[in-house]
Amino acid sequence: MYVIGLDIGGTKIEGVLVKATSVSLLPSVLKKIRVPTEATAGRDRVLCNVTGVILSLYSYGKENVSGFRLGGIGIGTAGFLKKGRLEMVPNIPSLKGVKLKVLLLQQLQRWKVKAPLYIENDSICFALAELMFGAAKGFKNAIGIIVGTGIGGGLILDGKLYKGRDGGAGHIGHTTVDPSGPRCGCGQYGHFESWCSGKHIAQRYTAAGGKIQNPDPKKIFHSKEAIAEKIMGETYEKFGMALANLINIFNPEIIVLGGGVSNLPAEFYKKITAAAKKYAYPAFSDGIKIVRNRLGDDAGVFGAAALALKN
Ligand code: ADP
Repeated sequence: MYVIGLDIGGTKIEGVLVKATSVSLLPSVLKKIRVPTEATAGRDRVLCNVTGVILSLYSYGKENVSGFRLGGIGIGTAGFLKKGRLEMVPNIPSLKGVKLKVLLLQQLQRWKVKAPLYIENDSICFALAELMFGAAKGFKNAIGIIVGTGIGGGLILDGKLYKGRDGGAGHIGHTTVDPSGPRCGCGQYGHFESWCSGKHIAQRYTAAGGKIQNPDPKKIFHSKEAIAEKIMGETYEKFGMALANLINIFNPEIIVLGGGVSNLPAEFYKKITAAAKKYAYPAFSDGIKIVRNRLGDDAGVFGAAALALKN
């Protein structure tokens, strides 16, 4: 079966055309495309870019695969669809409130592309990809967390995606770990995201008087400067609290991290696991696996493709 997977991010739109022989084997990629989202260029431009990626991948299939038939299109996007409208998309503000599925289906119909279309939050796609093909394969209760510019999450409970009432379940980044902390992009204070996302680790470091130029979590992690060590120490603590809450509520077997910050070395995983164990109920945290993803940057598009395959 051939399916298209798309990951719509604030910076780029990435798409793949894949061939899948089974839902449990990593699909093979026939074609990959990456274009800028042009998030600030307005709704029509962004939608045109999304449609453009789908049409290019579809045309590639038509021209290069004999008897090509598209089985489905999966899309992972920032935010989530509430009653069909995209919500919580601070990095692509022009898509806020947009009926993404309806508009894309109209566009695709115009170009005579007929295939079922599935849209989910990008962190949910990440969790799904790691469950089906990556680090969480074989587990029934897994949580995927993307720690990049922001923090998002996806829940797999009893082997199934858990989406909640409106499809917004798993917004782990917007849980409060310490309200005395920095303001989050959503307007609240002291969220897991506003303590521990890559952007906020760097902002906290600068606000505390750190001397590294253009700081990022990698530089701060490796620095021996006292301020850097203090900021990383706080990061482990707050990370541990957020993970402990997840562990106590969902009793997962594994938590898989993705996003830029997940590339920090093994020592980072040791520290956040120790902090999680400090705050979680021991019976639940005993044997918990807190690990880096296996699919790397491709998790998003594979997760989106997996959405279509799964359905
Ligand atoms: P986005 O959030 O735009 O999808 P990323 O997932 O790459 O992008 O996350 C970007 C954040 O991750 C930035 O704060 C960046 O500094 C941080 N980051 C990127 N690479 C690393 C790395 N190797 N180690 C630690 N942090 C990183």
